Amino acid sequence: MNPEEFRAAGHAVIDFLADYHASLSQRPVMAQTRPGEVRAQLPGAAPTEPESFARVLSDVEQVVLPGLSLWQHPRFFGYFPANADLGSVLGDMLSTGLGVLGLSWQSSPALTEVEEVVTDWMRQLVGLPDTFHGVIQDTASTSTLVALLCARERTTAYSASRAGLQGEARPLVVYTSVYSHSSVQKAAVLAGFGNDNVRAIPADEAFALRPDLLEAAILSDLEAGRVPCAVVVSTGTTTTTALDPVAAVAVLTERHGLWLHVDAAMAGTAMMLPECRWMWNGVERADSVVLNPHKWLGSVFDNSLYYVRDPQHLVRVMSTNPSYLQSAADGEVTNYRDWGIPLGRRFRALKLWSMLRTSGIEAIQARLRRDLANAQWLAEQVRAAPDWQVLAPVPLQTVCVRYAPAGLTAEALDHLTQAWCARINDSGEAYLTPATLEGRWMVRVSIGALTTERTHVEQLWEIMQRHAAEVAQSMAAGV
Ligand SMILES: *Cc1c(COP(=O)(O)O)cnc(C)c1O
Repeated sequence: MNPEEFRAAGHAVIDFLADYHASLSQRPVMAQTRPGEVRAQLPGAAPTEPESFARVLSDVEQVVLPGLSLWQHPRFFGYFPANADLGSVLGDMLSTGLGVLGLSWQSSPALTEVEEVVTDWMRQLVGLPDTFHGVIQDTASTSTLVALLCARERTTAYSASRAGLQGEARPLVVYTSVYSHSSVQKAAVLAGFGNDNVRAIPADEAFALRPDLLEAAILSDLEAGRVPCAVVVSTGTTTTTALDPVAAVAVLTERHGLWLHVDAAMAGTAMMLPECRWMWNGVERADSVVLNPHKWLGSVFDNSLYYVRDPQHLVRVMSTNPSYLQSAADGEVTNYRDWGIPLGRRFRALKLWSMLRTSGIEAIQARLRRDLANAQWLAEQVRAAPDWQVLAPVPLQTVCVRYAPAGLTAEALDHLTQAWCARINDSGEAYLTPATLEGRWMVRVSIGALTTERTHVEQLWEIMQRHAAEVAQSMAAGV
C-alpha cells in the first residue's frame, strides 16, 4: 500500500469507526457468537494475490464486528470500564502510523521525552509526591511483576547477580489480600517466589486486608526462618473495589523492611478527584504504584502507569547495555528499556497525552463524578427494593448485588443469580459480570463507560428487575 492508497483507505476507516461509535447503542452489548463461528467464515490460508483494503474492511463489518462484545456500549457494565476516548484513539493511531520504536532515548528521542512529561502530568493529577517517577507499561500485570522482581532483588542484595533465588538459603515470602487480583499471585510465581511462599491474608467485613493478620503472618514467617519480602495491597479490589489500608500496612513494611506495592489499576483514576484521595492514604510511603489509564480514565488499551520511588534500583535490576544500544547521550537521558521487561517500546504516551489535552481535566473529573453518583443512585434503588441486596460497600463505581427472594436454598439462589445474569447478557440489552463473593454467586455492576448516562443506569435497573423476576417465577413454577 502506498501513501496515496493509504490516504483513501484511511478516510474509510475513520468513517467506519465514527459510525460504529455513533451507533453503538443500537447493537447487542454481548457478542451473540458461538465458539468457532467467526473462524468458520474465514479462509484457512492467507491469499497469494493482493486484495483491496475495501474487502478487508467489509469483512470487519460483516464477520468481525458481530463477533465482538462492545466495551464502549453505554449499557456495558461488565468487568470494568475500558474506555476508548476518541482523542486517545487518534493519539494511538498516530503512534501506530508513525511506526517508531523506543529501544533507547537515541532510537526516538521524543518518544521518551513525551513519556517523561505525560507520566509526570499524571503523577501530579493523582496527587503522588515528586519523589515518584513514572513509566508506561503494557498492563498492570507487567507492572506488578516488575515490582516483585525489584522487591526480590532488594531483599536479597541482588541475588540475580549470583545464583538467583536458587542460591538463597531461606525462602522469601510475599503477602497480599485474599481479594487481590489474580495477577499478583501470577507475578509472585513468575518472579520465582513459588506458590507456597505467597500468603493470602484474610479481609475484614468491608473486604479490605486486615493489617493485624498481616503482622501476625510476617512474625510467624520470621519465627520459622523465612524472609518476608513484599506486600501488595489494592486500592480498589477487582471483585468489590475494596480499599486496603495503605497507611497501616506501610507501618509494617517500614518496620520490617518489606517492599510495598500498591495495585490501584482500576481505582487509581479516581485519585484525580481530591475528594477520593483518602482512599489510598499513605501511598507516598509505597515503593511502587500501578494505575491503568486504559480502564476508567479512557486512554485506549494498552496503557498502564507504573510509578517507583527509587528509579535507580529499578534500573539496576532491569538494565542491559549491549554495545549497539549505547550512545553518547546515555549519561543525560532516560533509557526506558531499563525500566521494564521488553526492549522495544511503543509510543504509548501519545494516546494519553492526546486524551488529556483534548478532554481537559475538568471534563474528565466531571465524568468520574457522574459515574460515582450513578453508582450511589443504583445502590440506593437496590437497597430499597424488596428482596434485593447490595453486598459490599460502594466507595467507587462498582455495585455488587443479589436478588434473594425468601425461601430459596443457597444452591437455588446461586442458580437464580447466574440464570438472570446470563439472560440479560444473552438478550444483548446490557452486559454484567457474575462473580463469587464469600463462596456464593452475585452480580457486579461496573459503571463508567464514557457514554453511560443516568438514563442508561435507569434502564439497567429496569432490565435487572424484569429478568430476575421472570427467572424466579419460572424456577418457582419448576420450569
Ligand atoms: C484490571 C486489574 C488488574 C489487571 O490489569 P491488566 O492491566 O489487565 O494486567 C490488576 N489489578 C487490579 C486491581 C485490576 O483492577
